[in-house]
Amino acid sequence: MRLTMVGTGYVGLVTGVCFANTGNDVTCLDVDAKKIEKLRQGICPIYEPGLTELMERNYEAGRLKYTLDKAEAYRDAEMIFICVGTPSDERGHTDLKYINSAADDIAATLKTLGPKQKPKVIVVKSTVPVGTTLSVKTRIRDIVGPDTPFSVADNPEFLKEGDAINDFNKPDRVVVGVEDDRTGEMFRQLYDPFVRQGHPIFLMDILSAEMVKYASNNFLATKISFINEMANLCEAYGADIGKVREGMCSDKRIGNQFLYPGLGYGGSCFPKDTLACIMMGDKAGIEAKLSKSVHEVNQKQRDRFFDKIQAHFKSSGGLTGKTIAFWGLAFKPRTDDIREAPALTLMRKAMGYGAAVRGYDPVAADNVRAEMGPANTVTICDEMYECAKGADAIVISTDWDEFKSPDFARLASIMKGKTIFDGRNLYRRSQMAETGFTYYSVGRAPVRPS
Ligand code: NAD
Repeated sequence: MRLTMVGTGYVGLVTGVCFANTGNDVTCLDVDAKKIEKLRQGICPIYEPGLTELMERNYEAGRLKYTLDKAEAYRDAEMIFICVGTPSDERGHTDLKYINSAADDIAATLKTLGPKQKPKVIVVKSTVPVGTTLSVKTRIRDIVGPDTPFSVADNPEFLKEGDAINDFNKPDRVVVGVEDDRTGEMFRQLYDPFVRQGHPIFLMDILSAEMVKYASNNFLATKISFINEMANLCEAYGADIGKVREGMCSDKRIGNQFLYPGLGYGGSCFPKDTLACIMMGDKAGIEAKLSKSVHEVNQKQRDRFFDKIQAHFKSSGGLTGKTIAFWGLAFKPRTDDIREAPALTLMRKAMGYGAAVRGYDPVAADNVRAEMGPANTVTICDEMYECAKGADAIVISTDWDEFKSPDFARLASIMKGKTIFDGRNLYRRSQMAETGFTYYSVGRAPVRPS
């Protein structure tokens, strides 16, 4: 099939490359000239394991094209997938400016092709408030007039950054909202190679498909806030969340996924999708109480962790003049995405209280340099021990594998202080008791040198 991806971000690029890999003819369109230039040179603009190799293979096979030319991208496509960002605006509402601008561009091309063209399917793959896909249809219809044929569909994406290729190639399910059988059949054909192992393709109405995505993300966010609330209770009463987690998660009805205590969720999806549910509720006169609490617990989780850092340094004059080393800057491991990353919140707070901040991340360093401004504000290091050198404390904010078994004796010899604030519970308390470090984690009592 001839497909066009609108937006070459984490979703658009992975989707385009994976569809090309099953034999489709894919054009990836973006408005960012730097991204398109990089892609044409074979450079992947994001870090996603396995993506560069797949890009190369399909580009060389002539099944993948990158362009800035909207008319060219839309003219011959049978299906157009809108994969642009849908961030929250300052009030927490979903900002649809990228969706609307893509819709207007598509409409402009459809209009020039006129009523005799083969009908195209315009698919919203971005996560959008319920009703948006039908608004896109109306928006395009208003521009192209009644006689130009096209249909719309909603096909939410469930991939996880860091494991996106695998998730896309072997989805637990494919969800598609359609208005007619012909469009549904096109999706079955397109996704058939991805569900050979028997996973379902759910065809449903468009509004339900849009809601599936929010329901899924909000449920996962709820699990994270739930376990963090339990962790906070554990801290207050001297219980150990690690043991509580084991005892609780062995119940098959509960399961053990997405129930890790930490610094709260970040990234470009959960925070904005929780807010979107709250806003959708407000608009409909239904208070989304649970979503509000999930959001609030999440916001407070970082503050609570920062309070521990401040409390620790209180007796030695506070954070002013202290050096804090941050291990892990991306919002989670195996990605360079720093959107809503807990590390950045904590770094900014620490700097606000006068600390000097150093940071290390295996892949997100460049993004942090770009986001945090002049290089002298945060010292970005190329290696984890270099980052720890001279620091009064380490803060672990992303659970990259390389942080899991550090050389504590080496750390003790190069750091100024011997304190670790572990926002990911990477180490056993009994292990830390032998290192001579003061060790704080989440939902467990601190370990202090005897
Ligand atoms: P992103 O910010 O990484 O990429 C969006 C891209 O769209 C950018 O490259 C931007 O330049 C481009 N763009 C904007 N307007 C355009 C236009 N008019 N024409 C062509 N290109 C345009 O975003 P993302 O993380 O890929 O997310 C995209 C959508 O998918 C969002 O709605 C998000 O909620 C959803 N989603 C994201 C993930 C994820 O893990 N990132 C997972 C599932 C769903």
